[in-house]
Amino acid sequence: MNELPRLAIVVPCYKEEAVLHETHRRLSQLTERMIKEQRIAPDSYILYVNDGSTDQTWPIIQDLYYHSAYACGLNLAGNVGHQNALMAGLELAKEHCDIAISIDADLQDDIEVIPEMVERYREGCDIVYGVRKERKTDTFFKRSTAQAFYRLMGLMGVKTIYNHADYRLMSRRALEHLSRFHERNLFLRGLVPLIGYQTACVYYNRSKRLAGESKYPLKKMLNFAIDGITSFSVKPVRMIFWLGCIFILVALCVTAWTLHAYFLHNTVPGWSSLMISLWLVGGIILIALGIVGEYIGKIYIEVKGRPRYNTAETLLR
Ligand code: UDP
Ligand code: MG
Repeated sequence: MNELPRLAIVVPCYKEEAVLHETHRRLSQLTERMIKEQRIAPDSYILYVNDGSTDQTWPIIQDLYYHSAYACGLNLAGNVGHQNALMAGLELAKEHCDIAISIDADLQDDIEVIPEMVERYREGCDIVYGVRKERKTDTFFKRSTAQAFYRLMGLMGVKTIYNHADYRLMSRRALEHLSRFHERNLFLRGLVPLIGYQTACVYYNRSKRLAGESKYPLKKMLNFAIDGITSFSVKPVRMIFWLGCIFILVALCVTAWTLHAYFLHNTVPGWSSLMISLWLVGGIILIALGIVGEYIGKIYIEVKGRPRYNTAETLLR
């Protein structure tokens, strides 16, 4: 490859006024360095996607665009969530770059491996995953829930890269293929491995959030996990089916046992066992309905085929 690739670093931002200046300082320094080292084209840029923040995020992005090098902006008309905001950024960048790297605004992911990602691309990879070596700086809670999440995804048969979040490089043709996935329930971590092509991983240590708070509290994390599984796997519904079979077997055994006891004339008044089984079976039926409902909900959303996001303003160079 002779020509230098034009790089777009795509950064989704939701209420990130506390970190944006520092983030841009670091990212633009890195961009400048890579341009000097002739790793990327001089017209490479950083695209900040404002995901309908209600704070100073967009004014700051505008200010960066007008007063400093490399900054570009995409203002979405409302909050559509991290995955959709990222998709919006990638779809815009796709038209104006050779490679795009997505990274969170809080720079918890080490930007020093970006040159390595670009290197892998120049060696012929279309997708380069950023993978966390360890999670020392995350709280015990975040670490264990995240790990449980990756395990569960694996059990459910969803192909994901272990300890990889949304920090990755994608070539233009990978991006083009990605935009052919039209689903509304976006779970990029599950979609990207479906693209194919040659891939590679680069490893780094994850650090603390620069400033501001995590936008992924427990409730959002749980929702994200449920979405991830139900958008990619129908195993839970099948598991319910097998669970139902096991229950029928248990019921048959109990019937046989009761008949046996009846003929031996030593039946016991079984109030508690009745109550227990009533609540147990009731609970399981409700869970089963809930899981099936989750899928029907997904179908409902997909069938409507609403647009994923709405663009209010773009600031490009
Ligand atoms: N984010 C977003 N829209 C949202 C929530 C989050 O664009 O509705 C962005 C946020 O600005 C950040 C990234 O998604 O750049 C990841 O969020 P965060 O760092 O808070 O998540 P965590 O690292 O704690 O999982
Ligand atoms: Mg973060």
